[in-house]
Amino acid sequence: MKQIILFDFPREESRHPIVNDLIKIYDLSVNILRASIDFNARGFLLAEIEGEEEVIEKAMEHAKKCNVITNYVESAILIDEEECVNCGACTAVCVVDALYLDEKATLQFDTDKCLDCKLCVTACPVRAIRDVL
Ligand code: SF4
Ligand code: SF4
Repeated sequence: MKQIILFDFPREESRHPIVNDLIKIYDLSVNILRASIDFNARGFLLAEIEGEEEVIEKAMEHAKKCNVITNYVESAILIDEEECVNCGACTAVCVVDALYLDEKATLQFDTDKCLDCKLCVTACPVRAIRDVL
């Protein structure tokens, strides 16, 4: 299977060779789509990983043990729930209602409806929505 995964490196793990681990330890195919990694700073790596499903899962467990946060990417955007203030501004630009506030006024995202237009990325005043593809 192929899976797009966003790796989020905390500052203290910025030098961890996670791609090397995925290839050498788990024999996975790694196609780097986008990367922003600097010495001694928080970094991101977006990669398409190819291999057996259970092997990918084991590799992601390994990444987590190394304090690298992994997000399985199912759409062109990723919402940082910790940054989101549930203001609803993004829902106003989403023409297919993939983004909506629920009865508790909390933002919800329906990935199946998303058209990947990315209008919500610029609509968010706190930059909680990241363009990942
Ligand atoms: S990318 Fe477009 S369709 Fe998808 S949630 Fe954002 S505004 Fe809606
Ligand atoms: S615009 Fe940003 S802060 Fe407001 S609900 Fe959407 S993701 Fe959250």
